[in-house]
Amino acid sequence: MKNFFFCNKCQVILTPKEEGGNVYLECKNCGDKREFVDWVEHVCSKCGFNKSTIVFHEMTGGDEGTTTMYRCIRCGTKEREGHLA
Ligand SMILES: [Zn+2]
Ligand SMILES: [Zn+2]
Repeated sequence: MKNFFFCNKCQVILTPKEEGGNVYLECKNCGDKREFVDWVEHVCSKCGFNKSTIVFHEMTGGDEGTTTMYRCIRCGTKEREGHLA
């Protein structure tokens, strides 16, 4: 999985935007905007943005299996569930 969301047309990183309780991903280049529905409340320890998406991270060679992680939709930082900053 990619670290960021890209515009299909210009391959520019989409900027998350909050509007009336909904989250949109906007392309600063062509103005394309799409609603992003798959978000959860989680404050990013890096940029402070409070919307993340859930990703499942496969642990390589360990016994832990799959770990649930939050990925900030603004900066792409991944954090483990229950991570304390
Ligand atoms: Zn675009
Ligand atoms: Zn962030």
